[in-house]
Amino acid sequence: MNPFPRIPGQRLLHSPGPTRLPDEVLHALSRQPMDLADSRLDPIIAACEDGLKRLLNAPQAEVLMYIANGHGAWEAAVVNLLAPGCIALIPGTGHFSESWALQTEALGGQVLRTPWVEGQPIDVAAVAQALRDDRERRIAAVFCVHTDTASGVTSDLQALRAALDDSGHPALFVVDVVASLGVVPFDMQALRADVVIGASQKGLMLPPGLGFVAVNAAAVEVARANPTPRYYWDWGRRIDALSYRKFCGTPPMNLLYGLQAALGLLFAEGLDAVFARHRLLAGAVQAAVQGWSEGGAIGFFCQPPACRSLSVTAVTLQGFEPEAVRRTARERFQVALSGGLGPLAGRVFRIGHMGDLNAGMVLGALAGVEAALQVHGVPIGHGGVQRAIAHLAAD
Ligand SMILES: *Cc1c(COP(=O)(O)O)cnc(C)c1O
Repeated sequence: MNPFPRIPGQRLLHSPGPTRLPDEVLHALSRQPMDLADSRLDPIIAACEDGLKRLLNAPQAEVLMYIANGHGAWEAAVVNLLAPGCIALIPGTGHFSESWALQTEALGGQVLRTPWVEGQPIDVAAVAQALRDDRERRIAAVFCVHTDTASGVTSDLQALRAALDDSGHPALFVVDVVASLGVVPFDMQALRADVVIGASQKGLMLPPGLGFVAVNAAAVEVARANPTPRYYWDWGRRIDALSYRKFCGTPPMNLLYGLQAALGLLFAEGLDAVFARHRLLAGAVQAAVQGWSEGGAIGFFCQPPACRSLSVTAVTLQGFEPEAVRRTARERFQVALSGGLGPLAGRVFRIGHMGDLNAGMVLGALAGVEAALQVHGVPIGHGGVQRAIAHLAAD
């Protein structure tokens, strides 16, 4: 017997990465690869780089793409920026800041962490204090996770920039926007970020497999002076040597076709419209969660409403098994959610609401979640989905 029979209709994918692929992207991905030296590849690579620069507002930066996921792009930042004896200051955001810190340490880097308080964004005062206390200037870079996808908390990047400025510390400002790019506005230039890290499978609506960095001249200079051994990830090599066209090997043609298509969709919709759509849909999801919370078992993991991510909502569940609810949502109602990561394992389920989504899809997903909660007897008050409808209807 086939344990995975075909699902009639669509399964609604509401994981915070990978996200749903638009049909235009699927079609672009399905083209044939071309030979490495075909000059038709050049304008495609250029369009991807230009599009990412436009999305990031990073006209001066170099965009370097890797055949890698977000962890690969993290590794690129670590090995390019941290010379022996240098420290990365990593403000606590939860699972993702801690994963980046562990990866940095595994690569031989030193890490200074600021404490993570559950449900809260980055403690900017603690970051400022750590910078002030670093009189020997051993902190080479601050590695900030904008939206921690595990906790659904978004931190204030402007406040972190201000903390760096006020401290007078020369550390580079490195920002992970893997989970927020294409969802909320980001401006590398205004933020004076030195390095920005992204990946394909979240707001960019592509399959996993393409990680990238945007690096400014200061970051490239630090990398060029850094003796830490590296080859594949090395920014200097990728910028200088155009053999193999910046990919240190075969370019990921199909992902590039897909990226060009995905960026085209974002610009055709208009970035302001894309961001407004995400704000509206996140508001609908969060209105439903607010409604369910009246039953007493459900809540927001992110405490300050203003910090709730527009990409993903982490929903706490007390007295019930989030994994069981998730299984029911997926297998019976065809709504695929995500579970808790790291310290949140078994405590939350997560509803992704980024990418190629619209109001009807979100209402369908919320109804599926509500149905799964009902199956498990979770008290959810009255009118969770109705609140989402009211939110959308009032727009
Ligand atoms: C998903 C994610 C990553 C890691 O990306 P992978 O592609 O899973 O390696 C890093 N940072 C953030 C904020 C993420 O959401």
